[in-house]
Amino acid sequence: MPELPEVEALREYLDEHLTGRVVERVLPLAVSVLKTYDPPLSALEGQPAGATARYGKFLALRIGGLHLVTHLARAGWLRWQETLPAQPPRPGRGPLALRVVLEGGGGFDLTEAGTQKRLAVYVVHDPQEVPGIARLGPDPLADEFDRDAFAALLAGDRRQIKGLLRDQSVIAGIGNAYSDEILHAAKVSPFKLAASFDEDQVTHLYEAVRATLGEAVARAHGVAAGALKAEKKSGLRVHGRDGEPCPVCGDTVRSVSFADSSLQYCPTCQTGGKPLADRRLSRLLK
Ligand SMILES: [Zn+2]
Repeated sequence: MPELPEVEALREYLDEHLTGRVVERVLPLAVSVLKTYDPPLSALEGQPAGATARYGKFLALRIGGLHLVTHLARAGWLRWQETLPAQPPRPGRGPLALRVVLEGGGGFDLTEAGTQKRLAVYVVHDPQEVPGIARLGPDPLADEFDRDAFAALLAGDRRQIKGLLRDQSVIAGIGNAYSDEILHAAKVSPFKLAASFDEDQVTHLYEAVRATLGEAVARAHGVAAGALKAEKKSGLRVHGRDGEPCPVCGDTVRSVSFADSSLQYCPTCQTGGKPLADRRLSRLLK
């Protein structure tokens, strides 16, 4: 799933390639990809593209006086095309969700792999009209997001830190992969309660948030849209690396189920050498 660093790289890519181009056609190709109906997609046609903005994991493409907003969800992607086939594709087949054709040739597709279709597109006058954007917490790379702002988010929260970091209404843009990486960098158990962090631990975790995301953004900078997924995977130290050696200490990276998926961590670096119990499974067995 694209998270803050990949979406930021896509934003940069679109800023460079899309700004100034005129939209010729917008073709919805998957059922229910479009979450708004007024203004219609056709209102974008004939309009020039302006700057692209990022809100958490959302991209907002300015087109004329409107914004084409998308959330790529778990398996979505943006595929830039220098040339597009003359025949429009038939709707409802394969991974194509939405095609934007630009005047002068080329354009881009929003694609979504798999059978669960969650990719969402909105046409709005203001990105804040999108409910998922309106409830976003602060951006962790914003200048004003300092250590004390982060401490205030953790204070009094009885949830496990892994869940808090992924909650878009608390902090915008961090998903399953980068929360694993941040907690590994900070040497913190994913199950530690947010409210239990002392002053030094808050500082270490804050620094891990900024460094992990900042480094990922820097790595993704300038990488072509099509190569971003492979780039992301190569930079991950524990996420998706169950059974591989931890690059810091050499212990074996382990996996445990969490919420609707699983997380990966290093026992030596993060949990005093003890494997985490699969709470979901133990709860079911009770
Ligand atoms: Zn380790």
